Amino acid sequence: MKEDALPPPTHPEIAFAGRSNVGKSSLINALTGRKTLARVSITPGRTRQLNFFLLGERLMLVDLPGYGYAKASKSDIKAWTSLAGRYLKGRPNLRRVLLLVDARHGLKEADREMLTMLDEAAVSSQIVLTKSDKCEPEDLARLHRAVAQEGARHGAAHPEVAISSALTGLGIAELRAELAAFSAGE
Ligand code: GDP
Repeated sequence: MKEDALPPPTHPEIAFAGRSNVGKSSLINALTGRKTLARVSITPGRTRQLNFFLLGERLMLVDLPGYGYAKASKSDIKAWTSLAGRYLKGRPNLRRVLLLVDARHGLKEADREMLTMLDEAAVSSQIVLTKSDKCEPEDLARLHRAVAQEGARHGAAHPEVAISSALTGLGIAELRAELAAFSAGE
């Protein structure tokens, strides 16, 4: 992928990252209140793996491809790392990356690598625990503390770890309000 194949950096941008199946599409849909978002048209075939969605002409949401897929080959992982690295380091309008983590599983090795990548790119990030409805409250509280502790060791990570459920709507309004604060004109 060539960097110039990315849409021009016209709007404040928020990117979503996480392991495959973490609930990224469901969270994006819950936050935007839409089942399908219009993709920003880009040169076909060039940035197939990065999806850009313009929200209300004020904010660009970017869906980074899911990582940590068990069957991914070494060359797939290399391609993903290169794509993500180039995007994260070369995007002046990128305001924050939401790093989605399954509330049942906590941080995995691939998430730790992502946190390190975000540190290196000096991109502000926030960890969001997804699918919280699948956890017992005590387990969720314990995992939340552990993830927050580990997140705090990463310079670029926002200290507050968010908790969400696309199913029950928990945490959605709060996250939506945070994102709205990044919108153009705010
Ligand atoms: P993606 O691959 O990260 O985009 O994940 P999806 O949004 O497609 O979700 C993967 C699976 O998890 C689907 O079966 C969803 O229905 C389920 N899922 C996603 N979010 C939630 C949630 O908040 N609660 C529950 N219980 N299931 C969820």
